[in-house]
Amino acid sequence: MKSRSLFERARAVMPGGVNSPVRAFRVVGMEPVFIKRGYGSRIWDEDGNEYIDYVLSWGPLILGHSHPEVVEAIKNQVEKGTSFGACTQMEVLLAEEIVRSIPSVEVVRLVNSGTEATMSAIRLARGYTKRKYIVKFAGCYHGHSDGLLIKGGSGLVTFGVPDSAGVPEEIAGLTIVAPYNDEEKVAEIFAKKGDEIAAVIVEPVAGNMGVVPPKEGFLETLREITKKYGALLIFDEVITGYRLSFSGAQGYYGIEPDLTTLGKIIGGGLPVGAYGGREEIMRLVSPEGPVYQAGTLSGNPLATAAGYATLKVLSENPGIYDKMERLSEKLCRGLKDIMERAKIPVFINRAGSMLTMFFTGEEVKDYDSALKADTTMYAAFFREMLKKGVYLPPSQFEAVFLSAAHTEEDVERTLEAAESAAGILGK
Ligand code: PLP
Repeated sequence: MKSRSLFERARAVMPGGVNSPVRAFRVVGMEPVFIKRGYGSRIWDEDGNEYIDYVLSWGPLILGHSHPEVVEAIKNQVEKGTSFGACTQMEVLLAEEIVRSIPSVEVVRLVNSGTEATMSAIRLARGYTKRKYIVKFAGCYHGHSDGLLIKGGSGLVTFGVPDSAGVPEEIAGLTIVAPYNDEEKVAEIFAKKGDEIAAVIVEPVAGNMGVVPPKEGFLETLREITKKYGALLIFDEVITGYRLSFSGAQGYYGIEPDLTTLGKIIGGGLPVGAYGGREEIMRLVSPEGPVYQAGTLSGNPLATAAGYATLKVLSENPGIYDKMERLSEKLCRGLKDIMERAKIPVFINRAGSMLTMFFTGEEVKDYDSALKADTTMYAAFFREMLKKGVYLPPSQFEAVFLSAAHTEEDVERTLEAAESAAGILGK
């Protein structure tokens, strides 16, 4: 068991044996498998087991693993040098493509991760509005910067309490938390504090409490109310950017935020993030304006080459989105039928190629309702599926992603595995 011995060594030298907590498989009651390679929709672990991959590095690999054009772009670049800390053509190409495709983005800054993108967008919103409070939604994740590492409690409008040790209460207190999909609570917050709120940040389709789509009118209300009070609306499209559509969630729903954060897909599997928006706001970023933000590796040639190649394949093959829609619909319908037959209550949320099967019979529309899902049942389902060669997210509260590389056969094999897992779980 190579994975097991690697994990033992990993635990000796890294907290929990991992470099990002959810990889540790703790909530599904297992030790992690160590992945050796990936191709298309498949990954192989160090012990030679093959899996259909529905995690896809948590979303970036919309073309699947080792897509030939992405690999070629990385190879071409690597021979010329990996980083110069100076201006390069590739960062201009990627920035131009982002500005062309994301409706509200007129000017963009490239960074190294989604966390950096959201953290910097918040600083910019505060710099622009000269206000200090931000509003976020319970269950939305925007990376691990201090002020955003706050989920807030239950259905109440709460001033944030830190989710993590090490976040001072004074910083958490600048974040106001509202329940997702609850327009009334947002209106209440603005009625009380409207002229001190710099920005509302939202995942336009939530992916980090499991998938929770916005109710009709929710995003529109956020757009209207922020405009009315002179606050900025930030769409965190780190997951949805180029996944829900080539123009992101904002193109899909037809709503333009003031600022947008991106990551994952725009790096094609290498570390990239970006924040962008209206020119008038973005020109406040240094060196043009007073809002400071910088990065040794920002816009580095290797990552931008992988990201640009990914966006190029997507833009030249719009049929990819139809294919992913068809396959995820089939997967969703199949899972629903299987669980119904096995008399296991589930509620499935789906938006395009991202979906979550919650083990609860009740509608999941926000963080509180997501928390009603039976995580023990999910853990058992996850373990059965893994045994059968299907690699799902190792937590109930994450999204299943499909890629352009997934096939009808992959989905059929996944449904066969689910049928057999449901047979075991339903007993
Ligand atoms: N925003 C959203 C919506 C995310 O899903 C994530 C990560 O999963 C982030 C921000 C943080 O991105 P990163 O992990 O690249 O720092």
